[in-house]
Amino acid sequence: MDALHTQAIERATKRFGELLAGEFERIERVKQGGKPKDYASLDHITIGILPGDGIGPTIVQQAVRVLECLLADQIASERIEIRPIDGLTIERRAELGESLPQDVLEAALACDVLLKGPLVTPRPGDPWPNLVSANSLLRRGLDLFVGMRPIRMPDQGIDWTFFRENLEGEYIWGDKGIQVNDDLAVDFKVCTLPGTERLARMALNYARDNGKTTVTVVTKANIVKHADGNFQKTICDVAEREYPEITVQTRLVDATAAKLMDPDFNKDFQVIVLPNLYGDIVTDIAAEHQGGLGSAASANLGTQHALFEAIHGTAPTLAERGLAPWANPCSVIRAAGLLVGHIGFADRRALLERALDICCTTERRVVMGMGDGPTSADFTDYLTETIEGLKGNAA
Ligand code: NAD
Repeated sequence: MDALHTQAIERATKRFGELLAGEFERIERVKQGGKPKDYASLDHITIGILPGDGIGPTIVQQAVRVLECLLADQIASERIEIRPIDGLTIERRAELGESLPQDVLEAALACDVLLKGPLVTPRPGDPWPNLVSANSLLRRGLDLFVGMRPIRMPDQGIDWTFFRENLEGEYIWGDKGIQVNDDLAVDFKVCTLPGTERLARMALNYARDNGKTTVTVVTKANIVKHADGNFQKTICDVAEREYPEITVQTRLVDATAAKLMDPDFNKDFQVIVLPNLYGDIVTDIAAEHQGGLGSAASANLGTQHALFEAIHGTAPTLAERGLAPWANPCSVIRAAGLLVGHIGFADRRALLERALDICCTTERRVVMGMGDGPTSADFTDYLTETIEGLKGNAA
């Protein structure tokens, strides 16, 4: 080996050592993580609102109207507070050269739960500096280690809840891979025991609390033997030790992506647990089968905080043409529904889902136009009237 190779290996080895040292520190913090917050016992719950970029402020405003309708009594009695958080626009992030300004992180940490609009992550060719994703910094800053996404297709008997590991895998050192020399680049995939155990407990608890009997773990453990192998084994071990009533089955990610809608293959899918990258891909495939952008929302859950959002982005082509008032608010409204369920009002989330079924399918009276017909706000008027009607019927 020549001297240049030796130097390149020494530099890479030093860098790798620094990454490992940082990871041991993070593992200690994960081990000390507290018990999940019990929202039912809180006297006061603060819902922070991050409007986002592009179409975000318009559609989030509609979702806030839905929150105000669903939680009217709680807001009136001041048990629940809705608190806007300013300062996370792409213009400000670009001006400061920071993806997540410290004042925004502090304001988010001061809330119990957050509803967030989509945020721009600059790509080559965008008019913005090449900032890292504000979404992933928020997930890390609030320690939101689970990405939860429900997928329902009642006509096909599908009622799935995905639990994606949100912080580790290929993403945790995403911008810290090593360009060893011109010929050789290395990225990393990280799987920790405490990180996987807390994900396993979140998914298995959800299964137990919601009468689910099977948890499916999706990996490529036959090839990625350490990271995926440990991930799969840890979830099986936690289930066997602490949740003996729940059956764990395993699947490979390539087969899962290919055969997701095959009833023989997806038999017994109820709660599905995946490492970060596979979760990102498979949940997007599932959302596409469910009905695409307007139909899916996701929750980012930790023990002390939770953040809820639509699955789509900022829709720059709509926003730049002044068409934001006609953007579809359904996905972020579904996210608001997940939030309401998470803080202890599962019945009100179910009420919203019923109202959405009525307004989007059975009595679809408002079909959003594009610059001429009904707007996002018109749809929300219809939805809130429908919710009030359902509330009246239940009373
Ligand atoms: P996108 O989801 O913004 O748009 C994809 C297509 O769907 C476009 O045609 C868009 O006009 C349409 N669309 C999206 N939401 C819509 C809505 N509510 N109503 C009607 N049409 C809608 O995806 P993209 O163009 O790849 O990304 C744009 C920006 O959003 C990027 O900066 C990306 O990083 C960001 N993004 C953010 C998040 C997030 O914050 N969670 C998620 C995805 C993308």
